[in-house]
Amino acid sequence: GPASILTKRAEYFFPATGHFYKNPPQIVKGYMQYLFDQQNKRYTDFYAGVSVMNCGHSNPEITKKTIEQLNDLQHTTTLYLTQPMVELAEKLALILPGDITRTFFCVTGSEANEGAMALARMFTKKQGFIALQGGLHGRTHLTLSVTGIPMWRLDDQLVKEHIYFIDRPYSMEVSQDDAMAQSLAQLELILKEHGENIAAMILEPIQGNGGIVMYPEDYLQKVQALLDAYQVLLIIDEVQTGYGRTGKMFAVEHYGIVPDIIVTAKALGNGIPISTFSTRDEIANAFTKPSASTFGGNPVAAQTALNVLQYIENNRLVEQANVLGDYLKRKLRQIDSPFIQEIRGTGLMIGVQIQSLDPMITSAERTDEILEKIKEVGFLIGKNGLNRDVLALQPPLVITKEDIDDFVSSLEKVLQTL
Ligand code: PMP
Repeated sequence: GPASILTKRAEYFFPATGHFYKNPPQIVKGYMQYLFDQQNKRYTDFYAGVSVMNCGHSNPEITKKTIEQLNDLQHTTTLYLTQPMVELAEKLALILPGDITRTFFCVTGSEANEGAMALARMFTKKQGFIALQGGLHGRTHLTLSVTGIPMWRLDDQLVKEHIYFIDRPYSMEVSQDDAMAQSLAQLELILKEHGENIAAMILEPIQGNGGIVMYPEDYLQKVQALLDAYQVLLIIDEVQTGYGRTGKMFAVEHYGIVPDIIVTAKALGNGIPISTFSTRDEIANAFTKPSASTFGGNPVAAQTALNVLQYIENNRLVEQANVLGDYLKRKLRQIDSPFIQEIRGTGLMIGVQIQSLDPMITSAERTDEILEKIKEVGFLIGKNGLNRDVLALQPPLVITKEDIDDFVSSLEKVLQTL
C-alpha cells in the first residue's frame, strides 16, 4: 500500500531524490493525456513527464509497433546495421533545420549534450564554452558545468576553467531591450578576451527548467553573428523543446537560425530513452575517434521514434500545440488573480510566474501550495524557474480544449482559496 512504498522510498532512494508534492501520487497507469493512481483516481497530465510524452501515455498506435519490434529484435549496437536506426537518421535529416543531416544516437539528454560539446571541441580544436544563466543541460560533469541554475550545481565539483556564463536576455526588472543589450555586451566581451579558446556556446532555444523563458526574436541571430566572427560554434539544446512542444517541430525555428549542432532527446522516444546530436557534414567529419553508445539508437528506441514522428505528422501535433497553446494562454490571461505575475512561453510550453503577496510565505511555497491543491482536483502540473515559483504547463500535445477549459477553471478556483 501507499505507506509501505513511502517507507521503502525513504529507506532505499538517495535522500536528495526529488519529488513534487508532500505525498507524491503513485501512478499505476497512463492513457494519452491522463494518468491514474492506485486508487484509480484520474489526473489530467499537464507536465508530460517533463515534456517527454508529447504523443500521450501508452498511446496504443505507438506502443503496438514498439511491442512488435521488441518481439523481432531488441538490441545489437551499431556494430551491425539495423533498419530502424538508419531510417530514423534519414527521417531526422529531413526534419532538422537547414543543412543538418548527420545524427549520432545516444540515450539521455545529458549524454547527447556531452557528445555535442566533445564534437565542438574536436571540430574547433578549442576547449572553452559559453552558457546562459538559467540554462540547464544535464547532470554529467561537463553538462552540469554549463548549467546556470544554482540549485542543480554542485559548485565546488564542477569544471570552472574555460567556462563562461552570460546573463540571459530576460529579466523581470528591466526591459527586454536592455536585458538583450546586456547579454550581448557580455557575450562580446568574453569573445574578445577568450574567443580564441572557446569551442561553442550552448543554450536552450526556450529555457525550460529556468522558468520557461523565451528570448527576443532577433537575439539568436545576433548571438550567431558574434560567434561566427570568432569561429565559435552554436549548440542548441532542444532536449525539452523539440518535436512539436513549442508549436514548431524545433523551437529554434522561432528565431530563424540554423545552429551548428542540435541536440534532442525526451519527446523523440515518447518514454523510450533515445537522444541525438546532429550536425552538418563538415563538423561531423571532425569526429574522428571510432565512437558509439551501447544503447544509442537501439532498434526498439529507434522504431519507437519513427512511430512517434509519424504520429506527430499524421495527427498534426505541431499545429495542435500552436492552436491549443494560444488557447491555453488566452484563457490563463483571463484569470483575474493577484498571484499571477506573468504568463510566458509559446505552444504547449507555458509558464505562469507566481508571486506570494505575503511576506511570511515565499513564492516557492505559494507555488507548492498551488501544485498540491490542483493535484487534489485532478491535475498534475510542473514547476520550475530559478526560484521554483513558475507553474510549468507542458501537457501531452494530444490534450483537448475541454481538458484545458477544466484545468483553467480549476486553477482559477484554487487561486481564489490562497
Ligand atoms: N537539457 C535540457 C534542456 C533538459 O531539460 C534536460 C532535462 N530536464 C536535460 C538537458 C538533461 O536530460 P536528461 O535528464 O535526459 O539527461
